[in-house]
Amino acid sequence: MDPRVGGEIVESFAELGVLAFTTGRAAGSFGTGTDEPVRHVMSRWSALRTLVGGSRARLATATQVHGSTIVTHSGEWRGWLRGEDADGHVSLRRGTAMAVTVADCVPVFMAHASGAAAVVHSGWRGTAAGIAAHAIHALFTLGIPHAELRVHCGPAVCGRCYEVSGDVYAQLMGRHPGGPATVDLRALIADQVRSIGVRDISLSPWCTRCDNDRFYSHRAGDAGRQLGVIVASE
Ligand SMILES: [Zn+2]
Repeated sequence: MDPRVGGEIVESFAELGVLAFTTGRAAGSFGTGTDEPVRHVMSRWSALRTLVGGSRARLATATQVHGSTIVTHSGEWRGWLRGEDADGHVSLRRGTAMAVTVADCVPVFMAHASGAAAVVHSGWRGTAAGIAAHAIHALFTLGIPHAELRVHCGPAVCGRCYEVSGDVYAQLMGRHPGGPATVDLRALIADQVRSIGVRDISLSPWCTRCDNDRFYSHRAGDAGRQLGVIVASE
């Protein structure tokens, strides 16, 4: 099955020659934390690898730890690279697919006309640590100006559905609300990247919890995980 079916494709990246999408419930879970046989999960990863160029093509993933570490991929390898302890991926080279798993956290996609691209997993910890800005900085050090980037925040829990403790709110917003309060992670990420000079920012209309029939949501009780995938075509 085509992993894009039932998810969200970032249409505005297509003219840059960049395929970016978030899978949905229809494509099945890409996480191994469910009761499903692992072979079912791995068959979806195989379909993804076929979509992004086959077994010889580069696909990078990593064990995610809600941190702010970004891996920059040089493209000197083939196959499926599974890294450790990273929540973001950056590449200048076309033909390097990169993926993060999400289910309420925000998959943040970045693309440039040169084929430079990035994807990060930004939950509240990653957002508080500014992981999207870290990826933009990594691209900047490789020669990609902030103002030439396109950034898209994919399907994630919306501002109405995401209540956090007062302490978490304070870490994100810089002031204590005195009790639990709601946070819009995508709006916050958009503000962060706008403040450092990114101009082209779009936000998905999909909420993983409001639209739980379409996407997996950790808060709604799902063990399944969708994927945020980006690859610049060669
Ligand atoms: Zn919602």
